[in-house]
Amino acid sequence: MRKKIVAGNWKMNNDLAETEVFLVELKKQVFPENVVIMIAPSFTNLNHAFKSLREHNVELAAQNMHQNNEGAFTGEISAKMLKSVGVKTVILGHSERRAIFHEDSAILAEKVNTALENEMTVIFCIGEELEDRKKGSHFELIKKQLSEGLFHISDDAWDNIVIAYEPVWAIGTGETASPEQAQEMHKFIREIIAENYSKAIADNVSILYGGSVKPDNATEIFGQDDVDGGLIGGASLKVDSFMKIINSF
Ligand code: PEP
Repeated sequence: MRKKIVAGNWKMNNDLAETEVFLVELKKQVFPENVVIMIAPSFTNLNHAFKSLREHNVELAAQNMHQNNEGAFTGEISAKMLKSVGVKTVILGHSERRAIFHEDSAILAEKVNTALENEMTVIFCIGEELEDRKKGSHFELIKKQLSEGLFHISDDAWDNIVIAYEPVWAIGTGETASPEQAQEMHKFIREIIAENYSKAIADNVSILYGGSVKPDNATEIFGQDDVDGGLIGGASLKVDSFMKIINSF
């Protein structure tokens, strides 16, 4: 079911004490009923956040996950481990994972499969580099990322997929896609899902925008027909700006 979602990707920020300060403040807030709110703290703080948020309407996501269920993969975290600490959603394919940690579409497709087999929800990130946009190849690139990473899944699996369109040139740069650019790409994403699956599936999937969303631009971006919310980096680290974005629909 298509939902309004605001998810905070904390990246490698906030230790346990800082996480606790954020959670104490977050739990004082009143949340709109029609918005799913998620935070993605680092692995080390997920269990604490899960226990702390048990009575509150805030979901947890992990920022990554390994494609294998267990084994000799030093330093990695499995789906089973995430679920054991209360996490049912995982962000996959973030541009920092693709660029810095060399996660390609083949690995991401495996991660998607593992997450789905473990009955987790996937926030699947896609987005073009500035060069792709300048060359005019951004639609082609987005289609490729979707086809290679996601278009092998079954019709039913789409119930557990959220897409985050995050143009790489807008992440952490202060530069946002204009509301029109976001709408144009989100519409395109829905169209190619409809072509490859069905209109019903395309209409049901939530597509989030990510890339320098702030309290002062969220309303316009979230107001676009095909934008169902945001994946928020920097502005999700403070309760005040995160709440302003949550209240921007
Ligand atoms: C992100 O990391 O997914 C992101 C969108 O970051 P920022 O909001 O800081 O651009």
